[in-house]
Amino acid sequence: MNILVYLEHDGSEVKKASLSALSFAQALTHGPDDSVRFLLIGENLDKVASQAAKYAPTLVLEAMELAHPIAERYALVIADAVESQQADMLVAASTSQAKDIISRSAALLGGAMASDVVAHARVGEELQLDRPIYAGAVIATVVLKGSPQIITVQASAYEASPPSDSTFAVTPLSPNLDNVPQRVQIIDVETKRSSRPDVTEADVVVSGGRALRTSEDFEQLVGGLADALHGATGSSRALVDGGITPNELQVGQTGKIIAPEVYVALGISGAVQHLAGMKNSKTVIAINNDSEAPIFEEADYGLVGDVYAIVPDLIEQLNSG
Ligand SMILES: Cc1cc2nc3c(=O)[nH]c(=O)nc-3n(C[C@H](O)[C@H](O)[C@H](O)COP(=O)(O)OP(=O)(O)OC[C@H]3O[C@@H](n4cnc5c(N)ncnc54)[C@H](O)[C@@H]3O)c2cc1C
Repeated sequence: MNILVYLEHDGSEVKKASLSALSFAQALTHGPDDSVRFLLIGENLDKVASQAAKYAPTLVLEAMELAHPIAERYALVIADAVESQQADMLVAASTSQAKDIISRSAALLGGAMASDVVAHARVGEELQLDRPIYAGAVIATVVLKGSPQIITVQASAYEASPPSDSTFAVTPLSPNLDNVPQRVQIIDVETKRSSRPDVTEADVVVSGGRALRTSEDFEQLVGGLADALHGATGSSRALVDGGITPNELQVGQTGKIIAPEVYVALGISGAVQHLAGMKNSKTVIAINNDSEAPIFEEADYGLVGDVYAIVPDLIEQLNSG
């Protein structure tokens, strides 16, 4: 089997989620005829390419027109690469970027697609794929009929592939840009720099829910505890909808799906849509003043009480310890 794994990056670093997608792809290969290669797209990619080559052979599509991940352009060059490399399967991490790009590639390729895969099994000749539906309340097992197969996997379901002792080949490909759509142009990109890690990449995530009444309270309690634990901040949708936290912090069915080592939920009830984004976390700690809150059913450690009373003490003790 010949598999291409779409590699996400931020211009200088490989995204950890793509290493989980690589793990999934590597688990499908067995013999010397099988191959798994990264597909890396962008501009000025030397640094990312050399990092990627520690994990897998890397095909590089580099061009000025590909400097930003504009979905209609990337979808086309990815589909071209799948065809020119005669790949049987295209794999990517299930991220917002992949939702935008990879599904378009699938449509261009006319293949068979499964998104958000959380587990797989070989049963005879069939590759069975598990994917959550109805906000994770039901797991559907599907088999793809058709070729090529296009699969996105939830990074939280697969450990990131470790780097190899050797360095793999980096092979430049010439992207065919003749038909690349020019309908969307990026005028400006504004990035917010945060001293905290990204919620999808952090080992520790501290999330706040409706218990937090203002942005200042969120920063002081959720941000303060995250900093004391060298972690990232996350949020329930209640706070995003209330304008207290920005959209990119939302954890859940319609936000980020994460699986950190430690997830701390402060004043979050544990609605099924929130659990869909964090229930694969290794250790869950919840603080809530309602002992009946459903979050306690997911929690490994629970504390019943007022976050405004408990969290400042916790931060002080961690910072002085
Ligand atoms: C289609 C759809 C998609 C959705 N997607 C998402 C999603 O991606 N992510 C998401 O989070 N939600 C999502 N939701 C919303 C979800 O259903 C819940 O409404 C939301 O998660 C509730 O957020 P919350 O737990 O912060 O608030 P609440 O449910 O109001 O819970 C607040 C909790 O804080 C506790 N509390 C209050 N004051 C204190 C205090 N001082 N100290 C300690 N505890 C306190 C309360 O006991 C309560 O348990 C979605 C809903 C729909 C319909």
